[in-house]
Amino acid sequence: MPSMNKKPVRMCVACRGRFSSDVLLRLQCKDGLLGEFTKFGRSFYICSGCLKNEKKYTKSLMHQCRSADATYLSNQLKEIVAHNGKS
Ligand SMILES: [Zn+2]
Repeated sequence: MPSMNKKPVRMCVACRGRFSSDVLLRLQCKDGLLGEFTKFGRSFYICSGCLKNEKKYTKSLMHQCRSADATYLSNQLKEIVAHNGKS
């Protein structure tokens, strides 16, 4: 399985599926603020499929950010996706 694949494979936190990094959006949460990965600290990935499923990714974001503010997180992710050009 993955040993045949030379592309880096990462896990999507929403569906737990494994994907190559080009279909994943890398994010991080710092002090409850969601943003794109800044090369520092802990990061996580969400795949392009899950980015279309608001209910699914919001739940994962709440878990990753240890936040209960679903409205902020889903809006913030939409901004990041719009800025990033993936969706
Ligand atoms: Zn996914």
